[in-house]
Amino acid sequence: MKPLRILSLLLLPAAARAAEILVEAESFASHGGWTLDTQFIEIMGSPYLLAHGLGRPVADAAAKVRIPEAGQWRVFVRTKDWVSPWQAPGAPGKFSLLINGKVLPETFGTSGGWHWQPGGTVELPAGDAAIALHDLTGFDGRCDAIYLTNDANAVPPATLSDRRRLLGLPEQTPESEEYDLVVCGGGYSGMGAAIAAARQGLKVALLQNRPVLGGNGSSEIQVWAQGGTMRGLYPHLGEIIEEFADHAANSPGEVDEYGDARKEAAIRAESGIALFLNHHVIAAVQGDASLSGHRMIRSVTALDTRSGREVRFRGKLFADCTGHGSVGALAGASFTMLEKGHLGMSNMWSWQPSATPSPWPDTPWALQLEPGDFPPTRKAEKTASLFHKGEWFWESGFDRHPLNDLELTRDWNLRAVYGAFGTLRRTANPDAHLSWVAAIGGTRESRLLQGDVVLTDRDIVEKRPFPDGCVPTTWDLDLHYPKEQYAKKFPDNPFISRAQFGKGVDRENGYPIPYRCLYSKDVDNLFMAGRCISVTHEALGTVRVMRTCGMMGEVVGKAAWVAVTRGTTPRGVYQSHLDELKELWRQPGGARRASLREPLAVPPGWKPPVVAKRAAGGLDPKSLPGVVVDDSQAACSGPWTEASGLPGFVGKGYRYAPQGSDATARFVATLPTGGTWEVRMKWAPHANRATNARVTVSGRDVRINQRKAADRPDGFQSIGSVTVKAGESVSVTLTAEGGDGFVHADAIWLVPVP
Ligand SMILES: Cc1cc2nc3c(=O)[nH]c(=O)nc-3n(C[C@H](O)[C@H](O)[C@H](O)COP(=O)(O)OP(=O)(O)OC[C@H]3O[C@@H](n4cnc5c(N)ncnc54)[C@H](O)[C@@H]3O)c2cc1C
Repeated sequence: MKPLRILSLLLLPAAARAAEILVEAESFASHGGWTLDTQFIEIMGSPYLLAHGLGRPVADAAAKVRIPEAGQWRVFVRTKDWVSPWQAPGAPGKFSLLINGKVLPETFGTSGGWHWQPGGTVELPAGDAAIALHDLTGFDGRCDAIYLTNDANAVPPATLSDRRRLLGLPEQTPESEEYDLVVCGGGYSGMGAAIAAARQGLKVALLQNRPVLGGNGSSEIQVWAQGGTMRGLYPHLGEIIEEFADHAANSPGEVDEYGDARKEAAIRAESGIALFLNHHVIAAVQGDASLSGHRMIRSVTALDTRSGREVRFRGKLFADCTGHGSVGALAGASFTMLEKGHLGMSNMWSWQPSATPSPWPDTPWALQLEPGDFPPTRKAEKTASLFHKGEWFWESGFDRHPLNDLELTRDWNLRAVYGAFGTLRRTANPDAHLSWVAAIGGTRESRLLQGDVVLTDRDIVEKRPFPDGCVPTTWDLDLHYPKEQYAKKFPDNPFISRAQFGKGVDRENGYPIPYRCLYSKDVDNLFMAGRCISVTHEALGTVRVMRTCGMMGEVVGKAAWVAVTRGTTPRGVYQSHLDELKELWRQPGGARRASLREPLAVPPGWKPPVVAKRAAGGLDPKSLPGVVVDDSQAACSGPWTEASGLPGFVGKGYRYAPQGSDATARFVATLPTGGTWEVRMKWAPHANRATNARVTVSGRDVRINQRKAADRPDGFQSIGSVTVKAGESVSVTLTAEGGDGFVHADAIWLVPVP
């Protein structure tokens, strides 16, 4: 059993025998059904327990504390009413405290922000006392700590240092052995960095603040990994990532699709990695300045989020893969951060119809919504089960501080989800039950640490060459904004987004991100990988997808080997050893060294991962007479998903967009000769498609039924004709809006009418 974060402190030696006992909720021996929330440690100083039961009270959390002396004990609980920032009625997160099986009369979580709520006085015998947190609602009650005292005048600890004193944490934080590379954050970028470095023979510590790896790509958040790997200048980059990347069919989907165990196994398989789950980096200790006079990190302090113990992890090099750029900020690295107008945070969710209707309470504290105030949740396309999703676009906080307001943003998302779900039940689906809501928010943008190069969207679109270009970024410049249609009711904090895709990224080969975006310009032994690298807000739109983030990690892991063996900094690697680094990027992902100085070798039997890429084997547009415009050449905006699973497509795949979205795909064909041309369109028919998809051919609307197969055996359907002059262009636009199902875009084909 883990030691409790408890101290009973005797204040007075003699007759009064006054004492204080502090119990941190995260240190409870059993969390029962409560979730350990570590997302807001920077805001409120500690992890806490969250009763995230989706409206059903969760099982009790339990602890034992030693009462030094029989008598009257005053009880306080550090908690909050989480809807109080909006003065919403009803206090959703109520819970009770039981001591030795007896319920205290006070109900907790009923008012105000984080504070010590008095719980009255209890008579306790000396010896072990059983404490239990008893959830009353299942609606995200929260408990940070419990304080007991038999001193009539004592008050609960006001500051974190008071709490540290009460917990008896040592003055001197113990230090670990020295690692070659300390990787902070265990999402795709951190995992890529740790594995790549370990395969180079480096001694690596991987610190991750959650019980699972994968970051946004874990089962806790359920974002599926996108971005093309194994292509461009260094086609072996990405092979490591593909060893553990998910192949989820839906986002959000099923817990198992996100492969937490597979990810952990990939890390544990590397003997060079010491994995520290549930460790949150809270401080960076400066070392002596480097020869160039810049800052250096000597160690990072990590809090064990369950026991409260702290350890300093010493390292030669550090990699900030926290997403938030937290290590860089702690070490004094320069960064940019948009406080308004940034990408938001999502708590995705799912619901299902239920055979046995379950009750759903009134939620007056949730956002009060009507059906038109939010998009319909939809069935996922690729699964037969009825699985309804609140997807990525349940996103808010665009104008809230991306760090200081993070808990508010998560709670606003919860209010939106519960409000929408209540409306769904009331108006359309009385049998619905809420099957999953992410308690851990998915964040997209906060600090962008500055490197020697700050990559811009212009660099990417204009394909500016950098000598150190490496990781291929293939995703469009995907920026999010509040969706106007749903922003009317809560214009101060809209909770539904739309994606705007800037074009110009080479989706096939990828644009090579320079290595100099992957280390800090002013902390000399700090790398970064993932969404906190040195790019502008606009460029983040493409580099932030997880397979791309993972490849940044691979590059960092390899560069760390060069830095360690050549006794230099990440910058020194660029300045003096770039060719050597490039040689490492050319090596297969499976190559490894038996030890630091031994040569790289590919273990016998290692094979590069087989990646289900967009199939190359579609119908070659050049094989068709006339003019063909593939979906890959169309100007697309809105939430299109690319795919190639259904056979018979033109080019390398097709794309589809959900019902109710504002997606459009505009195909423009320039016709070489004047006269009349027949316009044909191709899609893959499916039961979930729109029967009334709108296509505009040179300003004239046509409706097509995409559930039915096209009338031609080659899969094309004639949708009209146009008469043009030689060299004139014709535009054909497919629109999802107003359709009664998914719309599907593959290609258009124009043939001259004889
Ligand atoms: C709703 C949503 C939808 C998205 N859609 C897609 C998509 O379809 N496909 C795609 O590929 N990408 C998508 N993205 C973007 C992508 O998820 C992120 O950009 C990506 O996860 C960033 O990777 P990362 O490794 O930098 O950070 P993360 O995935 O956030 O991983 C960082 C990890 O570090 C941990 N950590 C943070 N601070 C500390 C600390 N102080 N100490 C220790 N550990 C710490 C975090 O808990 C986390 O587990 C989406 C994002 C969101 C939120």
